[in-house]
This record gives sequence, C-alpha cells and structure tokens, in this order.
Amino acid sequence: MKSISIIGAGPAGIEAASVLAKQGMTVALFEKSSSPLKNIADKAFLFPNFAAASDIVELMSKKLLNQNITLHYDTEIVDMRREGQGWKIVDGKGATYYSDCVLMATGYTPFDAHRKEELGYGIYGGVVTSLEMEKMIRYNQIVNSLGEKPKRVVFLQCVGSRDEKSGNHYCSKVCCVTAVKQAIELKRQLPDTEAYIFYMDLRMWGQHFEELYRQSQQEYGVRYVRGRISEASGTFDGRVQIKAEDTLMGLPLKMTTDLLVLMVGMEASEGTRCLAKACGICGDYGFAQSVDPHLGDCLTAESGLYVCGACKRPMSINDVVNDARAAAVAILEAE
Ligand SMILES: Cc1cc2nc3c(=O)[nH]c(=O)nc-3n(C[C@H](O)[C@H](O)[C@H](O)COP(=O)(O)OP(=O)(O)OC[C@H]3O[C@@H](n4cnc5c(N)ncnc54)[C@H](O)[C@@H]3O)c2cc1C
Ligand code: SF4
Repeated sequence: MKSISIIGAGPAGIEAASVLAKQGMTVALFEKSSSPLKNIADKAFLFPNFAAASDIVELMSKKLLNQNITLHYDTEIVDMRREGQGWKIVDGKGATYYSDCVLMATGYTPFDAHRKEELGYGIYGGVVTSLEMEKMIRYNQIVNSLGEKPKRVVFLQCVGSRDEKSGNHYCSKVCCVTAVKQAIELKRQLPDTEAYIFYMDLRMWGQHFEELYRQSQQEYGVRYVRGRISEASGTFDGRVQIKAEDTLMGLPLKMTTDLLVLMVGMEASEGTRCLAKACGICGDYGFAQSVDPHLGDCLTAESGLYVCGACKRPMSINDVVNDARAAAVAILEAE
C-alpha cells in the first residue's frame, strides 16, 4: 500500500492520518511541537457548543492509536520536493524521509498583537489577546493588571484582519464568534462584570452562531458597540483608556476598562509559508494555494502534494476536520 507524509498534527493532520491509516495507507505524521493539537490545547471551551477543548484533544489524540501511523514529534519539516516518483522531505536536523505523497496540514499562527502598537499590547498590562483570555477563562482566573476581578472588559474585533495597516485584508472567520463565546464565559464566571464588544460587522455565519449572539445579549447582558478603537493608553491606576468612534451614532467616545481583549486574527504559520514557497504553491498572504476552490480544494499544482485545513485560509475546527476528510478521499482516489 502507498505511503504518505503528513506535516502538522493539528485537527486537520490528525483527521486525515486517521482516515488514511484505516484505509491501509502507511502514514508518517510530523509535528514540530512535542505534542499534538497545540492550537486546540491552548483553548478553554469551543464554539459553537462550549465543548471543553481538553475533551476534544483527548478524543482526537485517540485517533492516532493506529499501527499504520508513525508519529514524529519535535520534528519540524523545513523542505520538501519531488524525487523520482515520490516525495522527499527534510527536517530541521537534516534527516530525510521518503513517501509516495505528502499532505500539508501546517495550519495557522495567531496575529502578533505587538504589530498594532497603537493598541498598547505589551505596554499596558490591561491589554491582552484572545489567547490570553482563553487561558484566564480556562483556569478561572480572569483578572486585571493588578490581579483583581475586572469591573469591565472590552473585546475588540478584527485585530490584524480586515486591516490595511497590517496588510491583511481578509476576514479571519472565527474571531467574531470567539468574542461572543468568551464574553459569555466571562459573564458565567463574573456575572457582575460589564462586557462590551466593539465590532465592524458581526459575522455569525455558522450553525448556532446567531443564537449564541442573541443569547449573549438577552441572557448575559453583553453590550455591542459598532465602531473601531483607534488608540489605547494606560491610566495611573492600572486601567486602560480607549478612544473609539461609535459608527452607528456617528460619535467619538472614550471609555475606561480593566481589560482590553484583542481578538487576534489567523495568519499563515511559518511552516505554511516556508513549505508553500519551497513547492511553488504559495497563495495570498502566505497561505497554501489549492488548484481550484470549488472542485480541487485539496489538490495542488504539484502531483502527489495535497493541502488541507487552516494552512489554506482561516477555518474553524469543524471546517478543518471536514476538509481533512475530503483531502483523504482525494488522496485515496488518486494514489
Ligand atoms: C483565539 C482563537 C480561538 C479559537 N476558538 C475556536 C473554537 O472555539 N472553535 C473552533 O472550531 N475553532 C476555534 N479556533 C480555530 C482553531 O484553532 C482552528 O480551526 C484549528 O486549530 C485549525 O486546525 P489545523 O489543523 O488546520 O491547524 P493548526 O491547529 O494550526 O495545526 C497545525 C499544526 O502543524 C504544526 N506545524 C506547522 N508547521 C510545521 C512544520 N514545518 N513541521 C511540522 N509541524 C508543523 C503546528 O505545530 C500545528 O500543531 C480558534 C482560533 C483562535 C485564534
Ligand atoms: S470574524 Fe469578525 S472579528 Fe474576525 S476578522 Fe472577520 S469580521 Fe473581524
């Protein structure tokens, strides 16, 4: 039976590995971290149903228990190219591996909030990212820069997405509903804390997302302000002052908050950028490019090279799992 190298042990890589191994393919799964699913393991609860991220990690990890799958952790793949009828991939220590075909599932990296200097991330302790908020929710430790319970928390959407200055014109797709999810969790843990979400548009595209948005307002009293925050600065008592414009009212406004949560977008990971470039399949913004968004979304211009998951564009977990299964079918049909 044919062999495949899968690069990246996120939900996309694991799902594809599991399907292909069950069909008898010999699978080598490479992950640069020391464990799988790091972009899920760092979350608390998952939209749309508030499943504990730790449960999903456990369920997905079990899919790796197949004798046809060989796991290579702490192995960063830095190059890959066609050799003869198959593929040769190279890791950061110079070791080489050969297989009949390759599936890239190298995923995303969160936008680095330091790049939005005007929002004060890394300068004021009260400015945090959505990833840090996930951690605070997970450990029931939502505190301001002084270690106290916040009286008010402001979430800001579209940080590093739909943004001329950071060069990312695309929508990151998951951050609108992530803010709704986090605001609900905040109110569950700290019912007296005020929660505000500043948004440009609310993109509640998935099943149950609109209901979550309604529930956040009706049941939890989360308040929504249509507008962008232009600047954040620190106050003498460790809080954060924001300058914004309410674009529905057409009014500039200032507000003080204990925590400003930056909803960072998804960018192509370093591995995605580097490997897509090495194989000539680099698309917009460094994401991997498939041959056709309708009928060949897991195929690439290189024969025997396939792509799935968030290495192509921002996706939610159910998107990437379905995409990985589609990639597995395309591989089984072709190889
Ligand atoms: C703040 C935030 C909250 C979110 N909350 C949710 C949620 O509640 N529900 C939901 O459905 N989705 C959520 N998401 C989205 C979710 O994280 C992604 O859908 C999912 O992680 C994408 O899976 P993937 O396998 O495509 O990529 P990734 O999860 O990024 O996995 C890719 C893997 O490839 C590895 N890798 C990369 N390069 C190399 C290389 N060169 N060699 C070896 N290994 C490599 C990486 O280490 C990584 O483990 C959230 C995202 C963010 C930013
Ligand atoms: S999902 Fe929402 S917050 Fe994220 S980039 Fe799109 S519009 Fe902005």
